[in-house]
Amino acid sequence: MRLSLLSAPDPRRLWLRYVFAIGLILVFLGSAHLVNLHSIKASEADAETINVSGRQRMLSQRVVFLAEHAVQDPDPVYDAELVLAVGQFADGHAWLLKNALRSPEARALYFDPDGPRLDRQVAEFLRLSKEFLALRDQPASALPVLRQMEDMAIADLLESLNAAVTLFEAEATERTARLEQMHHLALQLTLLILVLEAIFVFWPAQRTVTRSLNKVVEQNRRLLTRNDELDRLSRELDHAARHDHLTGLANRKKLYEELETLLADRRESGRAVCVMAVDLDRFKEVNDTLGHAMGDAVLKQVGDTMLAIVRKGDIVARTGGDEFVIVLPFSSRSERRLAQAIAERIADELRRTMIIDDQECMIGASVGYAFADEDSIEASGLITKADIALYEAKRAGKGIALAFNESMRDRLERRHALIQDFDRAFRDCEFVPYFQPQISCTDGRLIGFEVLARWDHGKQGLIMPNEFIPLAEETRQIDVIDGRIIFRALESLSELRSMGWDVPTLSLNASGRILRDPQFPDYLMSMIRMHGLKPSDIVVEILETVLIEHESDQALISIQRIAAAGVAVHIDDFGTGYASLSKLAMLDISGLKIDRSLIIDLQNEKSAKVVDAIVGLARSMSLDVVAEGVETSRQFDTLAEMGCDKAQGYAIGVPMAKGEVPGWLERFEPRPVAV
Ligand code: C2E
Ligand code: CA
Ligand code: CA
Repeated sequence: MRLSLLSAPDPRRLWLRYVFAIGLILVFLGSAHLVNLHSIKASEADAETINVSGRQRMLSQRVVFLAEHAVQDPDPVYDAELVLAVGQFADGHAWLLKNALRSPEARALYFDPDGPRLDRQVAEFLRLSKEFLALRDQPASALPVLRQMEDMAIADLLESLNAAVTLFEAEATERTARLEQMHHLALQLTLLILVLEAIFVFWPAQRTVTRSLNKVVEQNRRLLTRNDELDRLSRELDHAARHDHLTGLANRKKLYEELETLLADRRESGRAVCVMAVDLDRFKEVNDTLGHAMGDAVLKQVGDTMLAIVRKGDIVARTGGDEFVIVLPFSSRSERRLAQAIAERIADELRRTMIIDDQECMIGASVGYAFADEDSIEASGLITKADIALYEAKRAGKGIALAFNESMRDRLERRHALIQDFDRAFRDCEFVPYFQPQISCTDGRLIGFEVLARWDHGKQGLIMPNEFIPLAEETRQIDVIDGRIIFRALESLSELRSMGWDVPTLSLNASGRILRDPQFPDYLMSMIRMHGLKPSDIVVEILETVLIEHESDQALISIQRIAAAGVAVHIDDFGTGYASLSKLAMLDISGLKIDRSLIIDLQNEKSAKVVDAIVGLARSMSLDVVAEGVETSRQFDTLAEMGCDKAQGYAIGVPMAKGEVPGWLERFEPRPVAV
């Protein structure tokens, strides 16, 4: 409150001060105007008073002069003048009495008994004048009156009238001086008010305005910096929205944007656009075994590797966990060979062992690529083509680079159609077991059959497992197929036996997925019991990869439970993978099935040596050895010579439907053994 008047007021209340300031000025102007009016009136009154009092003096002399004239030389004109002058003198006196006696001095001059008593003198002079007028026709009587008038007019009255004139003049001068003083005062007060207003109104107001302006300027500056910050933030957000935060590569959004632009500009620029889809082959294993931090580091390194291979301006994007897409614009269509070279280089570089934090990891990658053709308008269509090629590359064994062609799409479409048919196939029991015989290499007698699945597709005819099993694995339905096949195969075995055929064993193929099902051992045992069979009637074939990929998981527990129950467990396709022999011993594996690829090559000395070594090793570990894919009797003989236990292949019998088995058995004759 103390300094509230001087302090800068709220700008929104400034108007109050202005109203007050202007009001004050108006009050002063109004007062000054009134004072002025008053002074003008007073000056006019003063001038009139001086005028009238001066005329009284002149009239007193004129009355005497005209009276003299009237006595000495009577003339009607002068006479009239005299009457008029007397009247004027009386009027002038009356006016002065009424208007001029404003000061005590003036009143003293007119009425004071100790002073000249101008009022009485004038009354006396007027009385004498009227007496003279009455007697002017008789000069004798009028003359003494005239003398008395003359006495007064040149002595007492004149003196008093002189005094009155002097007094009125002095009073006027004094009043003028006083008014002047008042004017000065008013001027000074006005100046003071203006100064005070300047100090209390305009200066604080100016300060408020200045402060508000400064505030606005400051806010403006802050707004500008905030704007800059927002700009930067939105640029960062934009970057984040278009890039993968882990690898810094483009993300799906940016990939599509850039690719769409390239495709749209293709005609004008005359450039060919190539899209490569890259997928890591063993990333999941690295993530699962070495941890996610390692997985992240691998992804970053993969990104860097690809960036180092492509040219500046090519787009490398991460579109999923371990999926990448590269876009390469080429200046002409003759660059297809260059694309293959780049794709192969990516696959090669990523096949190299990576060393991250002193840890070694082997990742490997498959690459599929496609060029935009006349119809490629949309990015998604082109990326799908590259994905199809990638899918083929993965199916073809991983680690390779393939260019898209239309037959790939046909195959893919066929695969999709087959997947669509799976449900119907289960419902209509279209998965059926085929049986391929196995015989002993020592006495040529029937050992049993391997059960091989077939899809008896209503429209497409018989479909082979190498076509539908990968699909069933993809859709995670392979275990259902296995379960069905096992059921129907065991049913067939018990039927054959009840028909009187001596079929000692049945080999079943078990997928990694069914092995990982904890219910599987119980299911298998109940099936065996249900069909009146014994565990020793059954062999379960498992792939080496099951042992490698699923170390210490449910699959190994299942294998041990099956083996413990008396079912023989054989390693299928042996010689192509990396299963260690120590693991075989540990897991109660009872046999090996040498892979077809080694048997086909048996005439080759190297392959023969490998097979021989496998047979020798297996025998030394008391493992059963089965050779599959035996197509010639020479192969059979060689295997028998090496000491292989059992053989299976077209040379002995092809896989056949259940109905064909009795006929085959009837025709079968135990093979004479060469050695
Ligand atoms: P596999 O277990 O190695 O089966 C042997 C494959 O070799 C069979 O192919 C068989 O028809 C073929 N084969 C037999 N003898 C010869 C021969 O002398 N020469 C040649 N070139 N091939 C011969 P198939 O039936 O097409 O089966 C392919 C693969 O599918 C099987 O290989 C097996 O891994 C898998 N499979 C088949 N049935 C089932 C099943 O019910 N469940 C599971 N999980 N996998 C199955
Ligand atoms: Ca097999
Ligand atoms: Ca096999």
